[in-house]
Amino acid sequence: MPLTLILGAMYSGKSTELLKHRTDNTLIINHKFDTRTTGVKTHDGLEVEAQKCSVLPDLSETSSYDTVLIDEAQFFASLDGVEKLAPNVVVAGLNGDYMQRPFGKILDLIPKAAKVIFLTANCKCGKPASFTKRLSGITDLVSVNSEYIPVCWECLH
Ligand SMILES: [Zn+2]
Repeated sequence: MPLTLILGAMYSGKSTELLKHRTDNTLIINHKFDTRTTGVKTHDGLEVEAQKCSVLPDLSETSSYDTVLIDEAQFFASLDGVEKLAPNVVVAGLNGDYMQRPFGKILDLIPKAAKVIFLTANCKCGKPASFTKRLSGITDLVSVNSEYIPVCWECLH
C-alpha cells in the first residue's frame, strides 16, 4: 500500500498535484476547515467534489476505493492508519506553519511514505518559496489566505 506525501508552502500547487492522482474509483477528502469550497479547489481554478470532514473515515468506508486523496491534511488531529485506507493513498498538506514548526500530524507520515513530493511556490523576489509568512495577527491559515504569503528563505528573514 504505497503512500505518497505531497508537502509544500501555500500556493505551491499541492491540490493540483493531489488531483493528478485521481482514478475512476477515488475518494477525495478535504478538511472542514477549508471553507473556500465544498470539495477541493486548486489555485489554477479546478474544483472537484470531496467528502468534507474533521475525522478521517475508517477502512469500512474506504475499502471499495482504489485510491484515497486527502487535502489539507495538516488540519486532521489524527492521521493514524491513513496509509491503510486504500491501495493508493496520497496525502497533501503544508510542510510547516508560519513559524516553521510542524503543522498537525502530517510530518509523522514521512517514515511511512514511499514517495515524498516537495513543492515550492513563487516568492515575490522570483526565487522558489518554501515557507509561509504571516502578514498580520490572524492565525487561521485557510480562510484568510490573503494574510499569508509564500516566501523564500531570504525574504522570510
Ligand atoms: Zn524571496
